[in-house]
Amino acid sequence: MKLEGVHHVTAITGLAQENVDFYAGTLGLRMVKKTVNQDDPTVYHLFYADEQGSAGSDITFFEYPGARPGRAGDGMVHTVAWRVASHEALGFWEQRLGDAGAPVERGEAALAFSDPEGLRQELRISTVSDPPLLADHPEVPKEAALQGFDGVRAYSSRPDASRGLLEALDFEPAGDGWEARGGSRGGLYAYDEPPDERGAAGAGTVHHVAWASEIDEHERWRARATAAGAQPTPVIDRFYFRSVYFREPSGVLFEIATLGPGFTADEPLETLGERLSLPPDYERLREQIEATVKPLHNPRVAAGRG
Ligand code: ZN
Repeated sequence: MKLEGVHHVTAITGLAQENVDFYAGTLGLRMVKKTVNQDDPTVYHLFYADEQGSAGSDITFFEYPGARPGRAGDGMVHTVAWRVASHEALGFWEQRLGDAGAPVERGEAALAFSDPEGLRQELRISTVSDPPLLADHPEVPKEAALQGFDGVRAYSSRPDASRGLLEALDFEPAGDGWEARGGSRGGLYAYDEPPDERGAAGAGTVHHVAWASEIDEHERWRARATAAGAQPTPVIDRFYFRSVYFREPSGVLFEIATLGPGFTADEPLETLGERLSLPPDYERLREQIEATVKPLHNPRVAAGRG
């Protein structure tokens, strides 16, 4: 039993339209689900991924309208890393992100940048043979496209405190951190020394990182987390996957999410993310909810590539 790398990363946006423009426009991902926060149906929960809406490529955002900019600190994820194919791909993104006004910083085998709300990300030249998870954007050549997550980095002032739980979840030492690697994908997790300034949740910060579980192993991962001292939530049905959540000792919120049923549970693959999807309990309130949330312009649909 192994976790299949990162399932999704969820962050916070205060600017939903700018968020769509950046992720479905500049970064060339596909908006694969437009739904509302299950705890507050007046605000969006937006999902971007590859063409198929695959786990392993899915970055999601809770919309907190008007949220103040946050700041990553101790116990928070500070960088989300994606894979790309080559140095040429890094060159493509250095140019494209720079043209879009994003701050970029080119390294030897990586390119760091921030989204419009300051969420730090990194493109790394892939060193693994995991199948690339590609979205199809007219301005992004396939050879340059993002290939899914490589991993995340977090701040921790006591990384050793997390060792027992990570080992219980079958993470293995890799590079300067850890890797959760299953039969088809792996994802990296590493810590850095926190800054002096305290972190603050807010726009541009990561809310949680989810690790991928086979559906029939999900309950057993929950049991393992409990046995290792974590306090997981009960299994929650998120419709597109099932989830449990717990804080790992550094303070980072972990989720373990199932590989399936997936984003085609309530709409066809061809038109993922175009219509507002509502959890069954909220369907009767559709008219009211659609009148409340701000209309969003999806650059991809406008370009006729639904
Ligand atoms: Zn999640």
